[in-house]
Amino acid sequence: MPSTITVAQLATIIDAVPTAIVIVDGQGRIESVNAQAARLFGYTSGELLGETIENLVPHRLRAQHPRLREGYVHAPQTRPMGAGRDLFGLRKDGTEFPIEIGLNPITADEGLLVVSAIVDLSERKRLEARLRAAIEAAPTAMVMIDPAGTIVLVNAETERLFGYDRDELRGQEVEVLIPPRFRAHHPGLRAQYLSLPEARRMGESRDLFGLRKDGSEFPIEIGLNPVESDEGRFVLSAIVDISERTRQANETLWVANEALRRANQDLERSNLELRRFAYIASHDLQTPMRSVTSFVELLSATYADRLDEQAQDWIRRTVRSVHQLRTLIQDLLEYSRIDAVERPFEDVAMSGVVEDALALLGAALSESGAKVVCGALPVVRGDRSQLVQVLLNLIGNAIKYRAAEPPLVTISAERRRDDWLFAVRDNGIGMEEKHHQRIFEIFQRLHDPQDYPGTGIGLAVCRRVVHRHGGRIWVESELGRGSAFHFTIAGREAPTS
Ligand code: ADP
Repeated sequence: MPSTITVAQLATIIDAVPTAIVIVDGQGRIESVNAQAARLFGYTSGELLGETIENLVPHRLRAQHPRLREGYVHAPQTRPMGAGRDLFGLRKDGTEFPIEIGLNPITADEGLLVVSAIVDLSERKRLEARLRAAIEAAPTAMVMIDPAGTIVLVNAETERLFGYDRDELRGQEVEVLIPPRFRAHHPGLRAQYLSLPEARRMGESRDLFGLRKDGSEFPIEIGLNPVESDEGRFVLSAIVDISERTRQANETLWVANEALRRANQDLERSNLELRRFAYIASHDLQTPMRSVTSFVELLSATYADRLDEQAQDWIRRTVRSVHQLRTLIQDLLEYSRIDAVERPFEDVAMSGVVEDALALLGAALSESGAKVVCGALPVVRGDRSQLVQVLLNLIGNAIKYRAAEPPLVTISAERRRDDWLFAVRDNGIGMEEKHHQRIFEIFQRLHDPQDYPGTGIGLAVCRRVVHRHGGRIWVESELGRGSAFHFTIAGREAPTS
């Protein structure tokens, strides 16, 4: 073997190295110790020279050491010592301390030498112990996994939360803590996290669940922390049971829902009561109204010549008012009846509906010189007389709210995916956009009865009928530029006329 270096030369080199280094010969005799190594073990360098290395090995491990040492000499290579075992050094004062040792065989003039670099692990072990203690005492369940996803550490809270003893968990894949339906995806997600690790919450956009030993599940929230170590990237996860929070949130939601449901019920009840009242009031008012009308008419017919002009004027006014009141009562009665009728829906040809409405408008139509243009209209499922009511109100309004020129009313229908869209357009006075919603409320009018007579019920009737047919009604209009009333009705057949 060619000579390469002497112990003396080596000693000079290792003295300059900040690591503790001990050089032994093939028999385990200490050939050289640098100052750091001597200090680490509590000796002076001179004290150790010529002693066997076993002096630095704790008594309990000493017996087996020469055998291990000789094994190394027979197959020397650069490697860490005691793979998988915890190593300890023995100080001169008899105390032990954890160490890590790297072994390097060197061929010197004196033969084979083994250079051991010794690292004191006390500080690291202390930190590790402190970390473990902190994890153990944490009020949150904490689970540490190694790069392969194997559980290496769990704390007391994890045992409590998942119902396992720590020995049952250590060495298992972390997937045991996850419900089976999420397991297949998990290793992929884990790998993803390891490739881009940062402290963050897990599953921001998903609901996460933990699986107890007894098979039950519970909602959780997880915080992830990468932990770098010599053995690779570990992940420390903090797991919080959010059952209570979820339960409370659900409870709040339930309470809110319940309140909403009750408010809705109240509203429906009061709507129903209102309609009942409207029905009873208008129905019961009809008879006395009729007798008021007949008596006033009788009065004016029988005593006309005996009454002066003033009295006659009052009677005329009374007749007008009574007439108006009767119209109001009739409209109200009609409005309150919309939901009361239980007539089943039938196939209704909308062209016939328009014809009926036009016939009912009769005089108003001819007097105004109106022109009505009607496109092809479909057959829909509905309540025929109510649909006549809708068209009567819409066409009637189109004529009533006319501008200077004779009214032109266009009626059309258009097939959409699930319904028919109808339009009744006019060239009348139109209205400002701010009124577009309001006019469908009962009694809402934009005009003085002197200018345009009416009760403000017609469009409210239209809306109720359209709603009853599962549709919607709205207006598109501008002041002075006419109006287009649109409504939808669920329809199934092709236009027939
Ligand atoms: P009424 O016509 O009896 O007043 P409606 O409920 O039918 O009641 O209409 C409510 C209000 O909407 C009307 O007073 C009117 O101001 C406005 N309106 C309805 N139709 C039209 C229309 N075609 N053009 C302009 N304004 C209209």
